[in-house]
Amino acid sequence: MTASPAFADRLLRWFDAHGRHDLPWQNPRTPYRVWVSEIMLQQTQVNTVKAYFERFMARFPTLEALAAAPLDAVLAQWAGLGYYARARHLHAAARVMVAQGIPDTLACWLALPGVGASTAAAIMAQAFDEPATILDGNVKRVMARHAGIDTPIEQAATIHRLYDCARAYTPAYRSADYTQAIMDLGATLCTRSQPQCSDCPVSADCVAWQEGRVDELPARRVRRSLPVRTTTFLALFDADERIWLTRRPSVGLWGGLWCLPECRVSADHGLPAAGESISPVCANATAAVPWAQFAHRFTHFELRASVRKTTKADSVGLADDGAWFEVNRLLAARDIGLPKPIQTLLAANFPPNESIH
Ligand code: SF4
Repeated sequence: MTASPAFADRLLRWFDAHGRHDLPWQNPRTPYRVWVSEIMLQQTQVNTVKAYFERFMARFPTLEALAAAPLDAVLAQWAGLGYYARARHLHAAARVMVAQGIPDTLACWLALPGVGASTAAAIMAQAFDEPATILDGNVKRVMARHAGIDTPIEQAATIHRLYDCARAYTPAYRSADYTQAIMDLGATLCTRSQPQCSDCPVSADCVAWQEGRVDELPARRVRRSLPVRTTTFLALFDADERIWLTRRPSVGLWGGLWCLPECRVSADHGLPAAGESISPVCANATAAVPWAQFAHRFTHFELRASVRKTTKADSVGLADDGAWFEVNRLLAARDIGLPKPIQTLLAANFPPNESIH
């Protein structure tokens, strides 16, 4: 495929007039701010990220402030954005950068935790104005439509073809602007549903538009419905109405966040089966009563949870992976990371200054 400066020129002209120039991480566009924004944007849309980014920068205005903060403080600012491995990687990478300096090459960015090829390219283009090719979800969609690539977008061979297209279109000039422009095109005109092709600056040679196949592209594998996992959480209170939370293992679902103890349940009566508790604290659940239910969709499964409430029995011990928290203070302070569904559950059941009774 030959380079297509015309594509870049048309896109940049459109970007100058219609692109997004006032995103929080664009002003000022420092490597630290661009890096944080790109990690947040990996699985989250711009409109959601904006508020999180502003709060994150207010709490951690510099790389040094982020590196010096405890992981809990970082997870607390991340709570609700999901994909918490991003926050753990961000924190670990900040400590590496404080020790070794902020990278200024693609290879050095790629060596940091949590930074993949597209993220590294986006940082190099936006923070250093270096030509680099990104291929996030928006760009994949634009490339698949513009070049008429109709094999399933999840396949490795398709991604190679999309990268080839994206590389061929990437200009050697105005790298920061082009990178923002191609993301903006995907986010505002070449949208997943109802793209606005008649306003598109590259419609003249867009295969999908010219051939009337915009709705078909990008092609996807037929999606299976998400598998369902069920589980039970325990809302355990002490005599002072504080709630017991445990920190989840650093790897896995909601890794490193604070959560209600999760208890396996036996199939017949819904209570923890003897010897099956994930946490010893779940032995308290034998006296628990149904309290709440919630469902939460993850990428690969749907979690359906029931929550049972009880007061700590004197005879039952606690594991050393938890602590008691006063719920209203916890919700107001936001100083530890809670999974979003747990935060929502507690907020719904604990309006400010109300007790469990
Ligand atoms: S013409 Fe339509 S489908 Fe093609 S790139 Fe533009 S917005 Fe996307």
